[in-house]
Amino acid sequence: MSDERFYLLFLLGFYAFTVVTYFALGYGLTWFNQRNPERKIQKGRSSDKRRNAEIRQSLASMFSACLPLTIGLYAQQKGWAPAPWNLTWWNAVPLFVLCMFLYDTWFYFMHRLLHTRWLYPLHALHHKSVAPTIWSTYSEDVFDNFLLQSYSAVVVFLVPFPPAILIGHRLFEHFNGMFGHCGFEYFAASTARYPSPLLCTTFHDQHHSAFRYNYGNYFSFWDRVLGTISPHYDQRVKTFEEEGPSLSLKPVNTPVEAAEKAD
Ligand SMILES: [Zn+2]
Ligand SMILES: [Zn+2]
Repeated sequence: MSDERFYLLFLLGFYAFTVVTYFALGYGLTWFNQRNPERKIQKGRSSDKRRNAEIRQSLASMFSACLPLTIGLYAQQKGWAPAPWNLTWWNAVPLFVLCMFLYDTWFYFMHRLLHTRWLYPLHALHHKSVAPTIWSTYSEDVFDNFLLQSYSAVVVFLVPFPPAILIGHRLFEHFNGMFGHCGFEYFAASTARYPSPLLCTTFHDQHHSAFRYNYGNYFSFWDRVLGTISPHYDQRVKTFEEEGPSLSLKPVNTPVEAAEKAD
């Protein structure tokens, strides 16, 4: 099989996997969220009306999320980019963490550029979702998403990451992005607030609700260093941590059902 045919099939297969897992996790997490309403981050605000439009846009945007990875792998295969390092048991974890940090750096600065007057028209669609839901994850202009994801096509020229690291990272970012937009907080912990550089769903949720804070993706590092962290982030995480009710798998009674039971 020619290289071109192989990478075209890879692109289509990776896109298909992304779409299938988007719906599977989307419906699964929606089911779980309905059973844990106290975990909602922006109480009283709903984006459910936007759902169908978000899903339609996501089907296009998920393709532009898979394309840069395919370009990066193809550039390695063709020898345009340096030959990738071999993957070993010893370098897998440090390389994955390095890949995350470099992606987070790319994402932070690209995201800030997208918030400038010149590029914001590209990014505005994503911010139509003020209270994001899991369906908002890929609800963005295809070119907006391509710029953020083009990391995979560029980084191969700087660091010869093994293909498995690049693929694993893109998959991780896919699921991470969906949890980050789900609108419900399940990951509040001391590891998600200062002085830890890690974060939880509230972080990006506040980017949607307050707009001028929290541009990072995996870490709060760049936001803290450059002063763009939300002043309410750490406290909000602490509150969730202290008051977060235990998780439930039972359906929540609607007011009508509750009244019927009381009769
Ligand atoms: Zn933004
Ligand atoms: Zn978002």
